[in-house]
Amino acid sequence: MTDCLFCKIIAGDIPAETLYQDDDILAFRDISPQAPQHFLIIPKKHLNGPAAITAGNEELFGKMMRVGAELAAQNGIGEGFRVVLNNGEQAGQTVFHLHMHILGGRPMTWPPG
Ligand code: 5GP
Repeated sequence: MTDCLFCKIIAGDIPAETLYQDDDILAFRDISPQAPQHFLIIPKKHLNGPAAITAGNEELFGKMMRVGAELAAQNGIGEGFRVVLNNGEQAGQTVFHLHMHILGGRPMTWPPG
């Protein structure tokens, strides 16, 4: 999508600190980290958010989770990290391209705000 921020990062039109990429997904550091480690895993194919995960693309979501866990371990937070997916404005989604937050490196509280 031409007006999608994360599609522009995938295309290389907006810079990001890339941690991993393959044909299907891209991982990069969040521009406004909410923890010492905070990065995002996104599919290269545009999907609006978690609700767009269906039986036809669920393998992609599994790969996002696997790579997120591997990157957590590689970045020293493998023993304690939080996975966040926001769906819709009410849940706090601000970028409408599916993304998985991985956060760690500090104590986490519950419930989230
Ligand atoms: P959401 O609130 O939609 O779940 O999360 C969107 C995330 O994207 C936020 O944590 C925000 O800091 C991050 N973000 C927004 N714009 C950019 C950007 O241009 N570059 C990077 N690396 N992250 C961004």
